[in-house]
Amino acid sequence: MVKTIKIKGGDGDSVVMIGESLLNLGRYVPVEKTVIITDKNVWNCYGKDFPPYRVIKIEPGEKGKTLDTVREIYERLLEFEVDRSSFIAGIGGGVVCDIAGFAASTFLRGIRFGFVSTTLLSQVDASVGGKNGVNLDEYKNIVGVFNQPEFVICDLSLLSTLPERELLNGFAEIIKHAAICDTELFVFLEDNHKKALSLDRNVIGKLIYDSVKIKSGIVSRDEKEKGERRKLNFGHTFGHAFEKSMGIPHGEAISAGMIKASRLSVKKGLLKEEEFERLKRLIELFCLPVELPYDLVKVIDAIKKDKKRDNLSLHFVFLSGIGSAVIKEILISELD
Ligand code: ADP
Ligand code: ZN
Repeated sequence: MVKTIKIKGGDGDSVVMIGESLLNLGRYVPVEKTVIITDKNVWNCYGKDFPPYRVIKIEPGEKGKTLDTVREIYERLLEFEVDRSSFIAGIGGGVVCDIAGFAASTFLRGIRFGFVSTTLLSQVDASVGGKNGVNLDEYKNIVGVFNQPEFVICDLSLLSTLPERELLNGFAEIIKHAAICDTELFVFLEDNHKKALSLDRNVIGKLIYDSVKIKSGIVSRDEKEKGERRKLNFGHTFGHAFEKSMGIPHGEAISAGMIKASRLSVKKGLLKEEEFERLKRLIELFCLPVELPYDLVKVIDAIKKDKKRDNLSLHFVFLSGIGSAVIKEILISELD
């Protein structure tokens, strides 16, 4: 059964379809006018199931999320004589969707686009919220636009080929959503971690549905990240710094980042020790790290860089209970 969630955006609505199939992509796009952007791994796994449209294949992975790749895409779009009535379908994980959304939003000042999300992480996170963009030098996502895809197809059957570590990236964001906003989802994760890890279709469908609902709810109330949307950065201040300074996957980094943020929350008297322990246990149940051998000087340095500016304070997301978060402005010096 397909479950849909509508998201209101500044420039029209977006619909996320959970349980829809890649095989039905043709129902949602203008068939003669569609160009697919994908990466080589996704092409190798599922190219045979793509509809017979023109395809642009990019290199997999975060390293290819650059303006050079975007330029190559523009050139191919010119070659294909793409016009304002054309459609771009990104089929892949967060990297493909970020680049495809950015290329579509800027080519000819914007053409229509939609996604088939093929990783758990992009299904629960990247494909919701309308952020598209690329990295520049060491700065992540520093060039981009806010623009929602017309649709996101979350095809659950594509997840079975995902490497274990990629899958865990997605679970880390699901745990984050539960921790900041949804006690019921948190309990569900505690009770169903085994089924979740084995990709039981009902369990995984619910986790994706709830996550998209939580994220899209927050995003629709605060599309441009002025207030509440910052809650989605829970675990990410330290997480990004761990990711960058240690070169580990996003999910592992934000798991340890959530632990760090929760410890600080206990220290500030916002979170009970037993609530902290409960979050720690859940992260462990999902085989994600709660401790990393990091170098504090490097990490603080990376946090300063990540802020993209030099002042000494930042908005930090604390946990104030299982299922609730608060944002406070603090000094970088309060982080250790
Ligand atoms: P994300 O940011 O969503 O984790 P990426 O776009 O970096 O995603 O994808 C992670 C890796 O997984 C890439 O190497 C990509 O090619 C690969 N990948 C994406 N979807 C699938 C899939 N369904 N099966 C196998 N590998 C996939
Ligand atoms: Zn994240």
